[in-house]
Amino acid sequence: MSVTERQVQYLRQLVGGARRIAVLTGAGMSTESGIPDFRSADGLWSRDMSLADAVSVDYFQRDPAAFWRAFRDIFHIKLVGDYQPNDGHRFLAALEEDGKEVTILTQNIDGLHGRAGSRRVLELHGTLLTASCPDCRTPHPLDYVQQHELPACRRCGAALKPDVVLYGEAVPMIDVAFQAALNAELLLVMGSSLEVSPVNLIPVEAARAGIPCALINYTPTRFDALFDLCIHAGIGETCRQLRS
Ligand code: NAD
Ligand code: ZN
Repeated sequence: MSVTERQVQYLRQLVGGARRIAVLTGAGMSTESGIPDFRSADGLWSRDMSLADAVSVDYFQRDPAAFWRAFRDIFHIKLVGDYQPNDGHRFLAALEEDGKEVTILTQNIDGLHGRAGSRRVLELHGTLLTASCPDCRTPHPLDYVQQHELPACRRCGAALKPDVVLYGEAVPMIDVAFQAALNAELLLVMGSSLEVSPVNLIPVEAARAGIPCALINYTPTRFDALFDLCIHAGIGETCRQLRS
């Protein structure tokens, strides 16, 4: 479906009326940069092992070599340095240039919001750009990770763990994220199926607190009823129309 002029006008009004904006983004934010999401029809995970098992802290601890093989495959880690921000990322960065206080709460681990120029980005699920030693905590850059099939710590030799939040691990910045959403005058959700907890409770709390909420996502989510406006269309086309 494409976005209607009425929806664009309503969203423009919501954005125009808010100085502090919180934006919750998910994998759909980066599909137009060429990074597949998980849950769209052409999302990349369709194996015999469940995603939650493959990207879990248990699997990493049990078999780091097998974990890294699956992890690279799932996240196209070899390519991550080459992906570029798209019109959606640029739209959010431009809002800050317009003088808005924009806090991005992202489930993405690709670093594209920062590359687009957004300054307040909480990477709730961590980042692909580094991997750290679980024993001595030494961080290692992506270049190093890409050069080794099973990347080991340069200081102590332990198998590195990607600096992403794996299934079975707590989301460290979740309280700050809820605070940012509750302090905002508008919550935008972009490109998330809202299937992953606890992040999917952010719009629930914001709506309960009476904060206007808008969603841009191809497919409906089970929380759509909470939103003042749901646009089931592409992020890029919607943002381009908002700017025009
Ligand atoms: P998800 O895959 O569950 O949902 C993505 C949603 O975005 C889908 O509902 C889809 O309809 C929608 N979508 C896709 N492209 C779109 C577009 N161009 N415009 C509008 N809507 C679009 O993603 P999620 O909710 O973020 O949960 C997946 C988990 O996987 C997250 O925890 C995230 O950490 C991780 N992940 C991250 C990346 C990344 O960093 N880019 C990629 C895949 C998965
Ligand atoms: Zn170490």
